[in-house]
Amino acid sequence: MESRVLIDEAAIARRVAELAKEIAGDLPDQSPMVVGLLTGSFVFMADLVRAASRLGIQPEVDFMAVSHYGATMEASGIVEVHKQTSLDVRGHAVLLVDDILDTGRTLSLVRDRMVEREPAWIRTCVFLDKPSRREVDVTADYVGFEVPDVWVVGYGLDAAGAGRELPYIMAVEPDEDRADETDEQ
Ligand code: 5GP
Ligand code: MG
Repeated sequence: MESRVLIDEAAIARRVAELAKEIAGDLPDQSPMVVGLLTGSFVFMADLVRAASRLGIQPEVDFMAVSHYGATMEASGIVEVHKQTSLDVRGHAVLLVDDILDTGRTLSLVRDRMVEREPAWIRTCVFLDKPSRREVDVTADYVGFEVPDVWVVGYGLDAAGAGRELPYIMAVEPDEDRADETDEQ
């Protein structure tokens, strides 16, 4: 398995500061509820709320746990919420944060469920976006970076449980078997 750095630490820091500024400019008040989707968003969330704090934003922070079954079940788009937020979002400004927007099933479902709880304002923010993989019609209001259809690891995102701690984003190339198949000409 080969990997290369796709987005380095300096680029991440610059972009997160820009995103925080963009979001801070749109927020209806200075104390939004920022809700991240575990586990992948934890690093991005930590940087984003601190960048927002430098702009005077004082958020309440919470996480939800959601799983999207892959492989065979992916086709049926089963997304399960394991942990809801305990924040009472009704009438508040809510920013939903995820690590990456892929098929879109997770963010779409979580956003719909959140809307039912009647926040006064709701926006979505993802660190990465893989638009080529989209299966449902959903876009995020704030996107850090667009990435191609490669498996990305680091900055909270894992490969089979590993690599979340990396302070940059790596692209993991397909393993040799698959590379052989694709390279066959
Ligand atoms: P979807 O948009 O397909 O419902 O799911 C998005 C979730 O799939 C992300 O929150 C993330 O957990 C996972 N995911 C999608 N693409 C990648 C990737 O390239 N790397 C990693 N580590 N996770 C991914
Ligand atoms: Mg995730």
